[in-house]
Amino acid sequence: MIPFNKPHITGKEVHHIYGAVATGHISGNGKYTKLCQNYFEERWGFKKTLLTTSCTDALEMCALLVDIQPGDEVILPSYTFVSTALAFVRQGAVLRFVDSRKDHPGMDEEQIEALITPKTKAIVPVHYAGVACDMDKIMQLADKYNLFVIEDAAQAIDSYFKSPKEPPQKPRALGSIGHLGCFSFHETKNIQCGEGGLLAINDPRFIKRAEILWEKGTNRAEFFRGEVNKYGWVDTGSSFLPGEITAAFLWAQLEELDRIQNQRKAIWNQYQASLQTWAAKTGVLLPYTPDYATPNAHMFYLVCPSPKFRTQLIEHLKKHNIHAVFHYLSLHNSPYYKPKYTGNQLPKSDYYSDCLVRLPLYYDLAEVEDICETINNFNQG
Ligand SMILES: *Cc1c(COP(=O)(O)O)cnc(C)c1O
Repeated sequence: MIPFNKPHITGKEVHHIYGAVATGHISGNGKYTKLCQNYFEERWGFKKTLLTTSCTDALEMCALLVDIQPGDEVILPSYTFVSTALAFVRQGAVLRFVDSRKDHPGMDEEQIEALITPKTKAIVPVHYAGVACDMDKIMQLADKYNLFVIEDAAQAIDSYFKSPKEPPQKPRALGSIGHLGCFSFHETKNIQCGEGGLLAINDPRFIKRAEILWEKGTNRAEFFRGEVNKYGWVDTGSSFLPGEITAAFLWAQLEELDRIQNQRKAIWNQYQASLQTWAAKTGVLLPYTPDYATPNAHMFYLVCPSPKFRTQLIEHLKKHNIHAVFHYLSLHNSPYYKPKYTGNQLPKSDYYSDCLVRLPLYYDLAEVEDICETINNFNQG
């Protein structure tokens, strides 16, 4: 069976893990954590980054940093992973779901403003498949209504947004545009360390407190830099930082980032080129990329003309030993949130829940041609 995902190992992971063990410092915030954080800050222009144990954790830090209180409202897409919502709900927030776009599973930026009320505290755009949301529109709304923007860039490492505004703006890394940005290095993502994440802090007002929350509510980070002569309990927090073994693994992946990305993009382009004719004939939609987005080949998906078509296509692929999978069940229809949800119907979000299927895409995938041929031979029964 060709798996849907296979985590790529560069070969240097164990080498760097030995390195971490040899330093004698295997708890968090050591040499490899700093190597990774410096890399992110220099390459993508984040003001400050902190490695976390997951993107879920980075989002938890965001909910604390923007100080979500019971009754505050948070605007986010329904077609997303649970973690986008989890941290805010734990703080007592009310979720205001935005439907997906007609041309793309990402949230429809045009529908955000109607959901803003005096209780709205934050917008959480999700860059689905590493494809940028229209960050100009979102940041304008945030300015107008004084809201925080927390980018769920879990899938979006090395993806960019280029503002169409005059003069032509330089492309900016996703996760660097909102007040805060969150990334995942779960083994299903482009760059991975099993479980891992990153908080990018772009609004400098949050930097000092983020370090404290990260270090269990203590000012230990300041202490280790020699800025204070003792450290103690100064705020709330948790143990959000990964150990050095995880950071060392991630460092091996970062060293090979360009090679990994080039290979993923080649696979993505091959899918796109080989499936175009079939897609046009069958009414299947291929991934849409807005002009302002430069995605990272995180995912190749198909949007089928009907749920039945999708079921049959997945069956057909399975018969040929190819594992293709659908994606999210809309959060507004989830067993946990549906009873609490009082907002509008979200037909586009449901449509992607019912009709979207993802194809295998990973560095070591050698069978793209076979997969495309199998798809091209599919005729709905
Ligand atoms: C993967 C993912 C997450 C969660 O990332 P973890 O590192 O597993 O916590 C959150 N949001 C989105 C959109 C994701 O794709």
